[in-house]
Amino acid sequence: MQIRPHHLLCMGSFVGKGYSDEFTENMCRVITALENGENIILVNGADDICRACPFNNNGICKDKEKVDRYDKAVMDALSLEYGGLYAYGDIGNEVINKICRKDKLSVICGDCEWSELCGRIYQNKLQKF
Ligand code: SF4
Repeated sequence: MQIRPHHLLCMGSFVGKGYSDEFTENMCRVITALENGENIILVNGADDICRACPFNNNGICKDKEKVDRYDKAVMDALSLEYGGLYAYGDIGNEVINKICRKDKLSVICGDCEWSELCGRIYQNKLQKF
């Protein structure tokens, strides 16, 4: 599965909400495939989640500037490489340990419309982790 960096955060806090029914169904499909052992290939730009998004305009996000900033911040926080292969479980642990536990979530994507919901979900995860 081709995944852009900041979607590593979005997938970890996904609770069935999204921009449209098609988007949500696709997000479920992507996450299920990764949970079943498909690897993540890290890509710079539109990915397998973007392709069902109503804000994807021929491969360009309507919020390109903002999501590129999120991608770069996640790359830096997790020391990832574009083109690299990653296991979903390993990356999920990295997100918890290197982003959530270090209070970087609001720094990386605090101006996202979903940030309040994601923050609550990651807080709950942290307590159980
Ligand atoms: S097109 Fe933009 S808003 Fe839609 S999933 Fe991709 S990055 Fe997110």
